[in-house]
Amino acid sequence: MKKEYIIPIFVPHLGCPHTCIFCNQKEISGQEKQVTPKQVKETIEYYLKNFKDDSKYVEVAFFGGSFTGIEEETQNSLLEAVQEYIQNGKVASIRISTRPDYINKEILKRLKKYHVKTIELGVQSANDYILAKCQRGHTFEDVKKASKLIHWHGFILGHQMMVGLPESTKLDEVNTAKALIALKPKIVRIYPVLVLKNTPLAKEYELGEYMPLTVEQAVERSKEIMQLFNKAKIQVIRIGLQNTEEISDPNLEGSQVIAGPYHPAFRQLVESSMWYDEIVARIKQYNVKVMQVTIQANPENINNIIGHKKENILKLKEIYDVDVIIKPDETIKKGKFEIAIEKTYEDILEEVKK
Ligand code: SF4
Repeated sequence: MKKEYIIPIFVPHLGCPHTCIFCNQKEISGQEKQVTPKQVKETIEYYLKNFKDDSKYVEVAFFGGSFTGIEEETQNSLLEAVQEYIQNGKVASIRISTRPDYINKEILKRLKKYHVKTIELGVQSANDYILAKCQRGHTFEDVKKASKLIHWHGFILGHQMMVGLPESTKLDEVNTAKALIALKPKIVRIYPVLVLKNTPLAKEYELGEYMPLTVEQAVERSKEIMQLFNKAKIQVIRIGLQNTEEISDPNLEGSQVIAGPYHPAFRQLVESSMWYDEIVARIKQYNVKVMQVTIQANPENINNIIGHKKENILKLKEIYDVDVIIKPDETIKKGKFEIAIEKTYEDILEEVKK
């Protein structure tokens, strides 16, 4: 399969009638203008010029949450702007993200006409109580209906879910992941909740009514649901919000984040933590006190095995007193590793005796 290049175009939902408590759309609506077809073309041209590899699969992605909720005329003009690039083969397809209650047969037929291939639904939770608490304005039944319609019309289905929503427990999130797996999405995004400025959630946070997850808690929760999606062979294409000027360290000027599990390398934290668990489980299988091991893995996995700021290596030393030697090996399949004991406690005793 060809590797994908994405050309991202952010489409703000100006005048969105909803008030999802974590969303700062109302705030930015006053400052942002709707993207124009001209800007869409300029963005595509810019990206096409900068792609190094012409043979890759190129997709234009209209991000922003509720593409099919904006005025139909605007939607069509934006989709129309991409058509010449689809016709000349420079762009292969279009992806949009939207709310589950903004999907119906007519909308899907129109999107099909414009070569939209992937539709991502903002689900957030499968628990209706939590959806209502977050003022999402739709239920999980809407997600089910929309997902089925999207499949029936031959689109690729994507889901986006959140961890750490108000009153959401780890079990709610595991149940959401399981409910989504049953709807057979091809791709999923997992977003830990961040408290953004000027949102209803920020008010709850300031009043002490909402307590965001810590980075560690968000990693643990994301890891658990990521494992479920991995097992179901559903690709998790993003964990954590994209870093931008607004979504950045709360201490930086311009950051819209007040609190919550912000981390610039959140996905790496989750994946490294999964590697750590696997390595520990493998070491524990040896019925001896292991002091030093060599881990061989594909070069692409080495960073995650070592962990952010060498966290895994340091933890293995601190908690299990194990030294780790890492050896990249291209012959090992991505996602797999080989481990060999270099030294046990017995070996060290022998060395001392000599
Ligand atoms: S997240 Fe909610 S409030 Fe924000 S744009 Fe989407 S539907 Fe509107």
